[in-house]
Amino acid sequence: MGARLALLGAHGGPMLLEDPRPMEPSELRAASAELESKTPQEILAWVFDRFGAVGLSTAFGASGSVLIDMIHRMGRDPNAFTLDTRRLFPETLELRDRLEKHYGIRIKSYEPALADAEIDARYGADLTRQNPDQCCFVRKVEPMRRAVAGLDCWLSGLRRDQGPTRAQAPILQAVALEGGRTVVKCHPLVAWGRREVWKYIFENQVPYHVLLDQGYASVGCVPCTTPVEVGEGERDGRWRGQLKTECGIHTQLGEIKS
Ligand code: SF4
Repeated sequence: MGARLALLGAHGGPMLLEDPRPMEPSELRAASAELESKTPQEILAWVFDRFGAVGLSTAFGASGSVLIDMIHRMGRDPNAFTLDTRRLFPETLELRDRLEKHYGIRIKSYEPALADAEIDARYGADLTRQNPDQCCFVRKVEPMRRAVAGLDCWLSGLRRDQGPTRAQAPILQAVALEGGRTVVKCHPLVAWGRREVWKYIFENQVPYHVLLDQGYASVGCVPCTTPVEVGEGERDGRWRGQLKTECGIHTQLGEIKS
């Protein structure tokens, strides 16, 4: 019996393929627990069986590249998208172009709703330093809300080993959207470590960010990203010297507590 039929629906029967029903909280928790024993590829197969509109967010870290490759090998379009904050490294945009060419896919970019001049006028010209949480909201969280609005399932490369704020992340969680809708967020690589990610990249010759070979462990916006020292964590180069560790797309998008 394949993974698609191993998971039971809310009423105890086998779950239908591309089941149009929204998942009840109890059903979501049960499915998330059952998927803990599955491989990332099995989790992805379940997602594509269960949901209609599936999309993958990537900031072009190593995990995002791995997921694009896995989905491509399943014969699927990852329907990948990214947040172009207008503060990205040129090397990040170069990787976007390289991935598009390598896999024959299109990666959609979502920019802030406001032009940079409007952001400066509304919040001040030095928002990144004066209020990075607001800057992240304008340049990342709000665009992400738009990006996932039409999805049934949002795939993300988030992993538990990336830091304390992610250590308890489930495989599946419900995220509330405007208008009362919810999107199911899925982290197929949540149980993988850095070693497994890089083993997959090298074994499968997956294109990856050139800055990851130049001392950076995680690459975000230029003003808020630094290389890391030996022994530092994967995200220690982000917002260095600040208490801030998350931009908000994984923590502020309206997770439904159940
Ligand atoms: Fe602004 Fe820095 Fe957040 Fe990018 S990471 S949106 S530059 S605060």
